[in-house]
Amino acid sequence: MLKSNGKIIKNPKEVYLDNASSTPVDKDVLLDWHKTLKTEYANPSAIHDMGMKAKNLLEHARTSISEVLGTDKNNIIFTSGATESNNLGIIGVLHLVSKPHIITTNIEHASILELLLHLEEKKLAEVTYVPVERNGIVDPKKIRAAIKSNTVLISVMYANNEIGTVQPISEIAKEIRHYKKNSSRNGPYFREGLSFPIFHTDATQAINYLPIKIEKLGVDMLSFNGAKIYGPKGVGVLFAKKNILLEKIIWGGEQERGKRAGTENVAGVKALALALEITEKIKNREVKRLIKLRDYFFKKLSKINFVTINGDINKRLPNNINITIKNIPSDLLVIELGERGISAASKSACKSGDGKASHVIQAINKNIKDTDGSIRFSMGRMTKKEDIAYTVKSLQEILKKLERWYY
Ligand code: PMP
Repeated sequence: MLKSNGKIIKNPKEVYLDNASSTPVDKDVLLDWHKTLKTEYANPSAIHDMGMKAKNLLEHARTSISEVLGTDKNNIIFTSGATESNNLGIIGVLHLVSKPHIITTNIEHASILELLLHLEEKKLAEVTYVPVERNGIVDPKKIRAAIKSNTVLISVMYANNEIGTVQPISEIAKEIRHYKKNSSRNGPYFREGLSFPIFHTDATQAINYLPIKIEKLGVDMLSFNGAKIYGPKGVGVLFAKKNILLEKIIWGGEQERGKRAGTENVAGVKALALALEITEKIKNREVKRLIKLRDYFFKKLSKINFVTINGDINKRLPNNINITIKNIPSDLLVIELGERGISAASKSACKSGDGKASHVIQAINKNIKDTDGSIRFSMGRMTKKEDIAYTVKSLQEILKKLERWYY
């Protein structure tokens, strides 16, 4: 049961601000998912009738997802979520170049940054972290300047999970294309029609709101999950052009063209495909609606003392609001908001609770202190204008209450 506007509400569908870390499942997706779970128990690798049926469902979902992305179905690999997709995409290409070098940004999700730190520690890869600008957006020219002859991969997230800033993916792709055209790399660096660097994007936060046609983006690999598009958690996709000779990271059966062993999550994958179809259908309308709400939210926030807005105000996800409130710890603000029925986040859900300023906020604000509170509000399909007004009013009350202790 969730509290909204101070009242207890029985139907969780009425939760009034979506938390980006726990987007509810769309009702139609949920019903379809349960229906599949009830009927499809067979292993899609089995050759009996039930197995074939499960395999058909799986392949149907693969086709549907590939059509939304505008790519071939054989480029789609199902995983357990975006963390695994990112790990497979990165570890999977290391073997393609000797002494591999990877380029990324300093605001990626933990599933990229922690992996890259590990690879550096184990001396399995050399990594360049290109810092984003003060607005939370990376300069494509700086990415290009970091490319070396042994750069196997460039991984830049499409939209940031904390401050919502949208990275110029197709412009980075253009820089990479120019580099390839002008570089004299050949021999071992060209394999099966594939040239380096390979370009990967973590599109987990973007998929709900931004254009996702592969050709327009110009990427070679792209990760996302079901959780952020009102689909199930624990299921994800790695789009990887099939000429990329990905090395597996899990050993076992030959599922997913030998790239990802283990019985496929048929019901989860089918639900993810449906969630993606619904997302695409309502995307334009939702984006317009949320931009209006977001800008209304920002306008109200800009009138409150002690509040600064994090990240580019326009080039950001339509549902993302991230602010810093000087001197008041994030966790206290999250608790106070929670008491008023508002689910805000102090930083990435995967990294919250360590009392430190988020690495993303540190990347855009060198003066940030661990005691300055940064909070994120994520809106969603159920958010209405009155919810924003209630949130701003609550925040004002909280600041008034805490002011005498912290200022
Ligand atoms: N990348 C980004 C940008 C994310 O926001 C998340 C989820 N918070 C992930 C990766 C990891 O997704 P999953 O939980 O499906 O592994």
